[in-house]
Amino acid sequence: GPEAATRLAAHGANLIVERQPASLVRLFLGQFKSLMIWLLIAAGLVAGIFGDLLDAIAILAIVILNAVIGFYQEYSAGKSMAALKHMASPQSRVRRDGKVLLIPSRDIVTGDLIGLEAGDLIPADARLLDATSLQCIESVLTGESEAVAKQAMALTQADLSTGDRTNMIYMGTSVAAGTAEAVVVATAMATELGRIAGMMEEAAAEPTTPLQKKLDAVGRILVWAALGIVALLFGLGALRQVPWYELTMTAISLAVAAVPEGLPAVVTVALSLAVMRMARRHALVRRLAAVVTLGSTSVICTDKTGTLTVGEMTARKLHVAGRSYEITGEGYGPMGEVHFEGHKPDHSHAAALQELAMVMVACNHAHLVETDGLWKTIGDPTEGALLAAGRKMGADRARIEREWPVYSEIPFDSTRKLSTTIRQSPEGGWRAFVNGAPGELLEHCTHFLTPSGIQILTDDDRTRLLQLTSSMAIQALRVLASARRDFPADSAPPTDDTAAALVERDLVFIGLTGMYDPPRPEAKEAISKCRAAGIRVVMITGDHRHTAGAIADEMGIAADGEVVSGKDLSLWTDEDWKTRVDRVGVYARVTPAHKLRIIRALKANGAVVAMTGDGVNDAPAIQGADIGIAMGKAGTEVTRQAADMILTDDNFATIVAAVEEGRGIYNSIRKTLQYLLAGSTAELLLMAVCVIAGLPAPLLPIHLLWINLVTDGLPALCLASDPIDPDVMKRSPRPREERMTNPVFLRIMGFTGLLTAAVVFAVYYYQLKNAGEETARTYAFTTLVFAELLRAFGARSETKPLWRIPLMTNKPLLVVMIGTVALQVLSQYHVGFGNVLKTAWMPPLDCLLLFAIGAIPLLVLEGMKIVRLAGLRAAV
Ligand code: ADP
Ligand code: MG
Repeated sequence: GPEAATRLAAHGANLIVERQPASLVRLFLGQFKSLMIWLLIAAGLVAGIFGDLLDAIAILAIVILNAVIGFYQEYSAGKSMAALKHMASPQSRVRRDGKVLLIPSRDIVTGDLIGLEAGDLIPADARLLDATSLQCIESVLTGESEAVAKQAMALTQADLSTGDRTNMIYMGTSVAAGTAEAVVVATAMATELGRIAGMMEEAAAEPTTPLQKKLDAVGRILVWAALGIVALLFGLGALRQVPWYELTMTAISLAVAAVPEGLPAVVTVALSLAVMRMARRHALVRRLAAVVTLGSTSVICTDKTGTLTVGEMTARKLHVAGRSYEITGEGYGPMGEVHFEGHKPDHSHAAALQELAMVMVACNHAHLVETDGLWKTIGDPTEGALLAAGRKMGADRARIEREWPVYSEIPFDSTRKLSTTIRQSPEGGWRAFVNGAPGELLEHCTHFLTPSGIQILTDDDRTRLLQLTSSMAIQALRVLASARRDFPADSAPPTDDTAAALVERDLVFIGLTGMYDPPRPEAKEAISKCRAAGIRVVMITGDHRHTAGAIADEMGIAADGEVVSGKDLSLWTDEDWKTRVDRVGVYARVTPAHKLRIIRALKANGAVVAMTGDGVNDAPAIQGADIGIAMGKAGTEVTRQAADMILTDDNFATIVAAVEEGRGIYNSIRKTLQYLLAGSTAELLLMAVCVIAGLPAPLLPIHLLWINLVTDGLPALCLASDPIDPDVMKRSPRPREERMTNPVFLRIMGFTGLLTAAVVFAVYYYQLKNAGEETARTYAFTTLVFAELLRAFGARSETKPLWRIPLMTNKPLLVVMIGTVALQVLSQYHVGFGNVLKTAWMPPLDCLLLFAIGAIPLLVLEGMKIVRLAGLRAAV
């Protein structure tokens, strides 16, 4: 309410401030750390000392321009990462003014009542008011990875250490098991975590991605190769007695031009742009490196509930005391009623229905809330559906809560597949209410409710009930069973670690509920997209095999129809694990431990595996996958912390969209790298040939620097942010071990460089013989600039010919192209600018001719693409 807002205003957001963001000045100065910049500055100084003031100024201007561009890139990348961090921020359940609300954890204030369950991240320091079998993992604070038990008792001893204050829970720690309600006593930097964070040194900067590291390695090789060639040319020049000044300047400029020092920046920008785009498509990426890995995903292991399906359950069928019923109404609202054989049931049904409704509601943590006429569930949708059905059956939750106070709880986990709430009976004694998966629950039942009261459950009865379950599951219904057990007044049920084993047995089976969760239409589409993209989709679910199979069929996850259950998995031999994992499309009735095993087996077979998870126990599987994916809505905070990516809409289609982005970005980086390196190769070759042949240098230092920054640098930026080729999802995933700079890449790079250098050399040589050195240089420089700019358009795709890539989809590139051509032409006809770029006048017709000659490398490369494509088509 208003009080919370006042406190929030007074104490500030509930956030741990790890460190101050780098100041703008520091960010700018950081740009001067690279060796290349210092080489450039040295070149500027040399020029200045030798009296070439114009050159010195031009070079220094280029240095500053370089730094400004680098600064701007880093600044915007940092800003988008901060925005992402904000979006991924956790949420908490609080009770304010008697209402349960879901709010961002940053808005929590002292005095808030927070509700917690397994998998939650504790949002602030709080004192427990109420806790049932609560276990917390406090390794963040204590380093101890064992879960610690917590109780709501008051502690009398003073001066206890953090770890011993068992009625306190702390920000940043997580709930491993149990449920609790607690009152917030400290937020933000006043918490234990805040105190530690405040004491810590500056946290390390975000580590760079493996791709960036690999590129750094490539870059280092290039530096040495370029420096080697430069040293060679320097030696040769010295032998030929080229003046020292000219020699030094040429060497430095060539080194600067040949080394693609802008590459890491380009990659970072491309990655963070992709991350922003993904966020708009509901995929929050928590590590930059994940973007690139995503692109090579070959198997997606996905949950069913909420990911492939909408995650909104509505109970459709009931079975109790030997009779089956239908329930009408959609969603979580109160509209709808129970029907028996098409009609409202008479009074003879009321008692049995009442018994079932009681269990459905008494063992339930969900809340149904109405906003603008729309009913939603806070909590587990399965429980929400039970609650809604219970209400339609006439159960009064408020009365149950009042007359049957909760004694203890054993929350649902996907290994037991059961959930229990023990309540104090108004007649004395206790009653355990149990909901769970029918197979598991029936194993623990000894009696069952029949039309003529409670009777012993025989094996035949059990088989019959399981058949009933199957017949509901085949209709794609998720089936839950309900049971109960009474404890007499003189034997209180246990509440410790052994409670599950001791309470969940000798149960009285009451009934079954079948609920429908419609498949997501967009997920179906995404699955067929995966098929085209050579990505296998595997469904892993805790649900009944028939339910899983029915949904899988509907979604088009066929995979030779093999549905394997958790029980089958425990019989698999090592050989099965090797051969069958590549075929099975559906795993049903699995536990989280199976998930980890499946991932390991798939990875051992060379797959790149993306895996979703939502429960507490899914964290290891999420960590084990190449791409761990957590749910933003339904999942637990703990899995979100372990994940590489969070789906804010829990939707399977989002995973596929993210893979598409990942592939797109990999291609973008690759083609940008190709474009830059081929350009450097051309410059090195051209200069080397001339020096070896004893000709004067065809390009002056300022030319090399200009090409480096304007002709290559700007188009490279445009290439890196090129829109994704819509066809990326029509190819197979790239192999796990594929290197970006593979032999094909290097061949194309070498060929392109050679071709460009040859064309420019031809122009240069012709002019040198016919018109003299200064004109020849202008012609060579102009040809190279035109050739590079035109080549950028071809570089937009490595496989598609030019006319298949719409020109207008990369307007920045068009602008850069027109602008640079204009500057080039200007430098020939404007004396002042011509002096800066050291170019001379040329007849306008020659300028046009050079443009045509500059198109030669582009045309040849495009021709080769066509030949390759035709070859491919012929091969098919
Ligand atoms: P998934 O998430 O793959 O759908 P779960 O492990 O959540 O599978 O559920 C497995 C089975 O456990 C369900 O089919 C259902 O019978 C039962 N179940 C699921 N959620 C609950 C719950 N909250 N309480 C009791 N039983 C549940
Ligand atoms: Mg589930």
